[in-house]
Amino acid sequence: MRYVAYIGNLTRMAVELVNGEEPSELRREFFLQHHVAEPDADELGGLLPYLREAVAAVADGAPIAPVNLLLERFPPLVYVSEHDGEGQQHLHFACDGEEPVAWLGRSCAAALAHVICGDPDVTVGRCQAGDCVRFYVDDSRNRSRRFCSNTCASRTTVAAYRARRKATTR
Ligand SMILES: [Zn+2]
Ligand SMILES: [Zn+2]
Repeated sequence: MRYVAYIGNLTRMAVELVNGEEPSELRREFFLQHHVAEPDADELGGLLPYLREAVAAVADGAPIAPVNLLLERFPPLVYVSEHDGEGQQHLHFACDGEEPVAWLGRSCAAALAHVICGDPDVTVGRCQAGDCVRFYVDDSRNRSRRFCSNTCASRTTVAAYRARRKATTR
């Protein structure tokens, strides 16, 4: 896994957690690779409020305080790992096999800190669909993503179309 891909994937996991999504393939793979157990809802309760504020700050580009607070509560432990094979090293921000919430907190804090400082690979945004409160990771070349899902994109397009039609047929 390339270093920047690692940051992007940790960011995807942070957004997935904040959105309350079921564990994705990516998350299961990450936990497996790093010998971390899937935390239950109770355990996650100690992390999610901080993580949500930090993801929101990254999506909005400011204020940075929630990201620093997350870093303070879950300070990253930086070291280089070669578990993908020799010459395939990437940065780790927590120890393999660590308690799940600490591992997630440290890893997500470091990733979000990179993104708010302008990581080259990904940005985070808020879904633009009217009543949706979810976030998304944008890795498109021209940063054109606006919705968390195809469902939100298409229902917003349909609503806009209906509004336009209503306006012109009146
Ligand atoms: Zn790793
Ligand atoms: Zn949405």
